[in-house]
Amino acid sequence: MKRIVIKVGSHVLTENGDISKDRMASLVELIASLQKTGKEVILVSSGAVSSGYTQLKLDKSFIPNKQALAAIGQPLLLRMYQEKFARYNMLCSQILLTASDLDSRKRTEHAKQAIEVLLSNNVIPIINENDVTATEELVFGDNDRLSAHVAYHFDADMLAILSDIDGYYNKDPREFKDAVVFKEHGFLDEKTLTSEHTPNNEFATGGIVTKLQSAQFLLENGKEMFLASGFDLSDIRSFLIDGIQQGGTLFRV
Ligand code: ADP
Repeated sequence: MKRIVIKVGSHVLTENGDISKDRMASLVELIASLQKTGKEVILVSSGAVSSGYTQLKLDKSFIPNKQALAAIGQPLLLRMYQEKFARYNMLCSQILLTASDLDSRKRTEHAKQAIEVLLSNNVIPIINENDVTATEELVFGDNDRLSAHVAYHFDADMLAILSDIDGYYNKDPREFKDAVVFKEHGFLDEKTLTSEHTPNNEFATGGIVTKLQSAQFLLENGKEMFLASGFDLSDIRSFLIDGIQQGGTLFRV
């Protein structure tokens, strides 16, 4: 496994309404370790809206306000990433995409060429939805689907989603104490993929269903997806660095 897309949700990056510096630092440390072992990492990061909200308290239930908050927060978010990566003498970069960019072969190719140059120079591409021109992931998805398309179009071997949940369970573990985690899972059935969305906090818009839709898309396209906790990175670390799966769910066929 050479090229990995890591997606981190807003719920993981946010704590008490602010970007969690500790969690971001742990994530950056993981990415630095992965780079040392010769892996290429593309990061898909949410968190722009929460970051903007620390500066200006606009009502987030109104979508144009959310777009404005994302526009305020995106450069702040990137500056935080830049500072953290600089500790490892690493550079990072910002790429704002919309799903429709990836519908166009020409635009996808342009983005791909830039990403190849960045990766070959050990620069981490940090991708987010361009929330000012598109609101799909802002309204619903929290970059889950965007990250699956990024993994597919930019030739990653795997997508790793770091979530507020440590895996995919046979039922919602927040509602059912006896829920059991799937260590591995193959294709998902239609009923599961169209079931109700259960976003878990005010910033998260995805819930488990968009993650499962991403897994299905990747499985259909011959790729794998790993879902693990973004609060405690030990499962993703042992899986990606030591090749040992302790926890998390591996979607593969
Ligand atoms: P993130 O913000 O990390 O992207 P979300 O909070 O949007 O993630 O979605 C994950 C949430 O989905 C979990 O916290 C959990 O409450 C809910 N969920 C519902 N059903 C399941 C399930 N079968 N397995 C795991 N999580 C589930």
